[in-house]
Amino acid sequence: MEEIINYIVFILLILLLFLSLAHKRFKINGVKRYATLLQSAFMGIIYIVTILFKNNKISVYLALLLTVLVIAVTIKLRKKVFPYIFKCEKCGNRLNFKHILFYDDLFCEKCS
Ligand SMILES: [Zn+2]
Repeated sequence: MEEIINYIVFILLILLLFLSLAHKRFKINGVKRYATLLQSAFMGIIYIVTILFKNNKISVYLALLLTVLVIAVTIKLRKKVFPYIFKCEKCGNRLNFKHILFYDDLFCEKCS
C-alpha cells in the first residue's frame, strides 16, 4: 500500500516540477507560479514522509500526523495554493486550459 502511495506522490511531484518549468516559458512571475512552488513544497514534504514511513524510520501515527498537518496548512493557505479560476470574471465564459494554469488575470482574451 505504501508503495502505491509513494509512487503516486512521486508522479504528482514530477508533474508539478514540469508545470513549474512550463511557467518559466511564459515568463510570468505571478501568483500561479508561486502556487506551483508551494504545491511542490507540500508534495515534497509528503513524499519525504512516505519515504521515511516506507523505510520504518517513523511510526504510522507520526506519518499520519505530518500528513494531516500538511493538509491543514494547505487548507489554511488555500487562496495561495489553489488560485485557479475557471470562468471569466466579466462575461462568465469558461477559460481555456492555458489561461487557467498560467495567466494571472481574471478575464478571458475577449474581455481583457
Ligand atoms: Zn470574458
